[in-house]
Parts: sequence; structure tokens; C-alpha cells
Amino acid sequence: MRKRVSDFRYDSGQARIPWAAVGESVRRDEIANILQFLVRPAADRQQEYDAQLERVMAEVDALIEAGDLQGKLALGNHVQALEQQVSKLLGCKYSLFVTNATAGFEIGYKYAGLRPGDEVIAPAITFIATIAYPLAIGAKVVLADVDPRTLNMDPEDVKRKVTPNTKVIIPVHLGGYTVDMDPIMALAEERDITVIEDAAHAFGGSYKGRMAGTIGHFGAFSFHEVKNITSLGEGGILCTNLDFGQELSRARFLGLDFSKQIPNWLYDVTALNAKRGPMVAGNHSTTEIQAVCLLSQMKRLKRIIAKREQAAKYLDQRFRTVDGIIPAPLGDDQIKTTYHLYLLQIDPQKVGADSQQLKAKLDARGVVQIPHFAPLYKFEVMRQMGYDTAAIQATCPVAEEAFQHRFTHLPLYDFSREQLTYLADAVVESVQEMKAGR
Ligand SMILES: *Cc1c(COP(=O)(O)O)cnc(C)c1O
Repeated sequence: MRKRVSDFRYDSGQARIPWAAVGESVRRDEIANILQFLVRPAADRQQEYDAQLERVMAEVDALIEAGDLQGKLALGNHVQALEQQVSKLLGCKYSLFVTNATAGFEIGYKYAGLRPGDEVIAPAITFIATIAYPLAIGAKVVLADVDPRTLNMDPEDVKRKVTPNTKVIIPVHLGGYTVDMDPIMALAEERDITVIEDAAHAFGGSYKGRMAGTIGHFGAFSFHEVKNITSLGEGGILCTNLDFGQELSRARFLGLDFSKQIPNWLYDVTALNAKRGPMVAGNHSTTEIQAVCLLSQMKRLKRIIAKREQAAKYLDQRFRTVDGIIPAPLGDDQIKTTYHLYLLQIDPQKVGADSQQLKAKLDARGVVQIPHFAPLYKFEVMRQMGYDTAAIQATCPVAEEAFQHRFTHLPLYDFSREQLTYLADAVVESVQEMKAGR
């Protein structure tokens, strides 16, 4: 009888009858189904596909014969290896692979001891994930206006909006271009505020020689399928340099503490030592196969960013000479962006039309562009939670103007030469037409 790797909670060693939790985790059929999911039949080539699949599965059978099927599927060696690699890459003390960036923020917010009525400052332009937890628990979300050049949180407006009730500031490195963190960290230190970086777009980016996500008290990255690299569709990493980081693995899995046992049971369950008292953990566990995928993609990260950078630099060259187009900030000695999105802005005065017309013209040319994101005060959920959204909008004039009239985002990836020149031509021609009043 071949002994399977056992789940850590029920490791029954070399037993004659091991615990059943992992008895039948993966079989040949799952491998076949996963393969067919990952590599789909091409249109009109079903027969060829079926024949190839049969051949591959014969080889898989041989592989299984010579090997061992995976028994451990969640929170195992690969998750651990991934976290070690990420900590090394980022130069931080602790990393935790969690279900998604939103879960990472939640752990950071809980650590800060965020309670109903406490205030959180987030930028007006971001994804709703940034503020999902404070909204859900009835904390007060305060939206800071954005810097017109980067559309990142404007530190000056954060200073204006901070109060004695501010417990968390959550800057967002939009498109991978890092926020000006120094003034935010100085303010946070002065007032004992927890800073959580929404580094969803910024894995591999840096600010003044420090990796994005490691500058605040916490940073969380997203590996959702739309980001630069992915852990099979969903995933996030939370990192920190706080001593609290030792407790991160318990923060991920319900506070189970295997270093202690209550009488007649396998473990104890403990609250974590957070900033303002005990913190009860949720479940944000991840799988080994997600970790395998991300470990693999991490090897390509540098090249992926370099390809995007090449494309961004080409667009910059093409746009810089056109009056009225404001090319994306590309980064410099201080800021290394991940080129997750290309921030395209226009000056409506110079162009004689605005980004809504530009978007229509680009759509007509088959160029898909999506402004990331609508200001959060536009969404119904904020009204439902009792916010006076018109009043909030009035405090974020730059975000409002940028969203209505000035910006969109172009995709960035390893374009073909034709795609890249077509994209640049489409933008330049559209702007020229708009200037000519067409
Ligand atoms: C994608 C994204 C998130 C959420 O990431 P998940 O991993 O899907 O939770 C948060 N913030 C921003 C700015 C994002 O684009």
C-alpha cells in the first residue's frame, strides 16, 4: 500500500489505514479535465485535438506509473516556497499567499483594529476592493483627491482630510506607478496611522529604492488573471515588516495554532495580537496549484515588465510630439513602474474635445481601452451605506475632471509590431481629427 502525503491536521504517519482526508485527491481524470480546460480545442480542429489528447493521456498514464499523484492540495510546500521567494524578491520579512488582494487588505484593516466610525483615507480613483472591508463594517471611508499627472492619491489632500479618527491610509499604486509615499508615511508616523499599500498593480515596482508593497505597514498584491502575472485566475500576497508578521499564517487560517493543544484535541485556536487588541482571523487559504503557477510566472516577471516597458516607451515617443496628448509617466531614478496600464490623458482645451470623444473614436478603430477606474463616489453602494456622494464629489474635483474629460487607459503587453504601430496611429489620428473639429 502506497502511503499518500497526508493533510497536516491529520498526519497519521505510516499507518496501515491512514486518515482519509486526502485519500482520493487527484486522479487521472482530473488531470485530463484540467488539461482540456487549459488547452481548448481550436475551432474546426476537434478531430486532431481529440487524437492529440489521446496521445498525451497515454504519456500521462506512463508518467503516473513512474511517479506519485499529488496528495497535498492546499497550503503545502509550494505555498511556503512561493512566500519565501516573494520575501526575498521584495526584501521584506513576511509574505503570505492569500485568496486575493482584497483578503490581504482585510487582514491589514483588522490588524489596525478598524471599528465602525473609524476613518480610512483611500484615493477617489481605485477599484472598489480597496475599500470593501471598511464599507462592510461601517467604518467611514474618506476619499482623497488625486494628483492630475499620475491619478494617484494626492498626499496634500490626504493631509487636508486626515482627522484624529483616521486609523488607516490606503494608497493605491495605480497602473503600477508608485504613489509618493514619503509624505504619507511621515503623516502616518506622526499620527500613529496604519498604512496599507494597495499594490494590486505594482508587483515588482519600486519607490526610492524600496519595493512597492514594503513601504507601508502592509502591502497587498493581486494575482487575479487580469494583472501582470497570475496564480491561475485568483490570488494575492500580503507582505509586512511588522513583528506581527510572525502571526500571518494564523491570520490566514482561522487562528488555528498547532504549537499549542487543548486537552484531547489537536490544536488551540487563538486571537492574534493586533494593534488595538485581539484580532479574530478569517479563512483566506490558497492552493498548491495556484502557488505552482505563480512560482512559474515569477520567473518571467522581469521579461514581462520589460516588454511592457518597451511598448510604453514607443507610445511615449509617438505621443510626446503631439500637442494636447499627455503621455503616461514612465518612471525615473526614483520610481520604477510595472507598466500594468498605460495612462493616456488629453488636454481638452488644446484638443477641443474630451476623453469621451477620444474613447468613441478609439472604439470605432477597434482599440479596446478602459479607464481604470470610475471614482468610487459614483457607485450606488456608497449611497446605500449612507454617504452623501455629491458632497464627496465636490471634495475631489481633480478626480471628477479626469474621469469625465481627460483620461483613459490603453492596454499594455507584448504587442506585435503591427499592433503597437496601429495603436499609436489610432490615438494620434483620433486626436488630430478632434483638433480639426471632426
Ligand atoms: C485588481 C485590484 C484589486 C483587487 O485584487 P483582487 O486580488 O482581485 O482582490 C485591488 N485594487 C486594485 C486597484 C485592483 O486593480
